[in-house]
Amino acid sequence: MKLLFSITILFISLVFVVLAVEQHPTAVKDINVEELKVKPLQPAHDDHEARVKRFLNNKGGDHFSKRVAIIGGGIGGSSCAYYLHNQLGSRLEITVFEREMVGGRARIVDIDGSPAELGGSIIHPLNENINQLVKDLKLEVYYPEKNGTIFSIWNGEKMIFQQSTLHHLVDKFKMIYNYLLDPIRFKNSRDVVVNNFLKSYKYEEPFNTVQEFFDRIDLPDITKVTAEQFFVTNASISKPFIEEILSAAIRVNYNQDYDKIAAFAAMIALVGAEDDLYAIKGGNYLLAKKMLEKSQSATIKQSVKTIKKEKESYKITAVNQEGTEKDYEFDIVILATPLELANIKLQDIDNANNIVHKEYKTVNTYLIAATSLNPTYFGLPPNEKIPEHVLTSHNKSIPFFVASRNPRGIIKDGRTLFKMFSENKLDEELFSKLFNNHTTLKLHAWKAYPVLTPTSKFPPIKIDNNLYYINAFEHAVSTMETETIASKNL
Ligand SMILES: Cc1cc2nc3c(=O)[nH]c(=O)nc-3n(C[C@H](O)[C@H](O)[C@H](O)COP(=O)(O)OP(=O)(O)OC[C@H]3O[C@@H](n4cnc5c(N)ncnc54)[C@H](O)[C@@H]3O)c2cc1C
Repeated sequence: MKLLFSITILFISLVFVVLAVEQHPTAVKDINVEELKVKPLQPAHDDHEARVKRFLNNKGGDHFSKRVAIIGGGIGGSSCAYYLHNQLGSRLEITVFEREMVGGRARIVDIDGSPAELGGSIIHPLNENINQLVKDLKLEVYYPEKNGTIFSIWNGEKMIFQQSTLHHLVDKFKMIYNYLLDPIRFKNSRDVVVNNFLKSYKYEEPFNTVQEFFDRIDLPDITKVTAEQFFVTNASISKPFIEEILSAAIRVNYNQDYDKIAAFAAMIALVGAEDDLYAIKGGNYLLAKKMLEKSQSATIKQSVKTIKKEKESYKITAVNQEGTEKDYEFDIVILATPLELANIKLQDIDNANNIVHKEYKTVNTYLIAATSLNPTYFGLPPNEKIPEHVLTSHNKSIPFFVASRNPRGIIKDGRTLFKMFSENKLDEELFSKLFNNHTTLKLHAWKAYPVLTPTSKFPPIKIDNNLYYINAFEHAVSTMETETIASKNL
């Protein structure tokens, strides 16, 4: 009787905590957020003309148009062309070199006559630049269907979390029952980081270094510590919650583990696992395509081999698909691709040796048609309703990071389209155990994003007087939105 009474009291207390979290998400404020406090914004003391002058370097007078080369037609390069054209119009003649496909890592593949994303696939509703671009360019968006789909977390032995098909409060209740204050502590630290990050949109003055971006938003150390250090030290979150829950969401988006990945990238990955994410109808690459069209730039399908500094300009040597080399001369050059992957030689550029490099992570993306995931692979009875999004927790023996129903959902033959990410190549034997009635439709092996370990030294944004590097920012995080932030910054 006494035991029953205690259980009832415990239950009622938990219900109150759950409801309190639901209604007052920041009610419990016991985390150490001292170092993360937001300082008042510095007024922007930059006006449009000053910015134009700085970019044009004021040489030869503003009335001459400058020849600008952008290397890379991904979201970074195309948004750069778009923003520059909007600001400076005919004062610039923009040429974009793209060696492969406009969109870059925002790329689709055709499945049954409809597109499926292979790379950058989801956009967060707080992504102010992309939200605005989508509006300005009149692109249509869609919200991946979630009808009845549930996610779970597999630790290699059992499902350690399974989303409820009932009310979402049930999940909150389960979380708090299992992890007490950790979910609230996480939410508080997430809110601080997100709110600080959102302040960055208010600055008009460009940041000169990647570190300056983080100093300004009062998160100077967030790229310098691991997610584990950040969550344990700053937010007092317990190891089991990090290992079992947070780690799964970090792995989905960056395929990297919480004890290695830097806190900022981890937080972006976690925010990228939230609700209301959207994508562009027809493929996210359309954003790049539309921006290039609007920028009135010339896009040429050539691979840049060298950038050589001349007296007042830069000589670019590029090669076309037939292997023919051609030289070009430009006043301003913008690198909009990771130098680690670009195979470009920088000649006679003093600062070139100061560019730090990061290893890029290999990620295999699989698209698989199947009737369902196979419950027995996960140790569940054959008739159990199996979730359609299986995330994985920190365990080296699990051969994949995620196996998840693709937003495309059901394809023409009635089967479901699944997407998987893995570090190593997977084989058909594994797929036959993992899926019921499967066909492997597509494998794309990416050098996907940097290995996002803690970093305190970033590549320069301004490599030389008129040579800029957008993807310097990618050493902190790799998303479509942050590429637009880096390109708008020039
Ligand atoms: C599997 C995967 C999933 C992802 N998921 C998401 C997501 O859901 N949401 C999100 O926001 N982000 C996601 N990302 C990250 C996002 O896609 C990238 O951060 C972003 O698209 C990078 O854009 P970019 O323009 O900087 O680089 P890229 O897209 O890589 O563009 C660079 C371009 O430069 C070209 N190029 C390179 N070298 C040369 C040369 N020498 N000469 C001429 N052209 C050259 C390349 O062909 C390429 O098109 C994902 C990435 C991957 C790989």
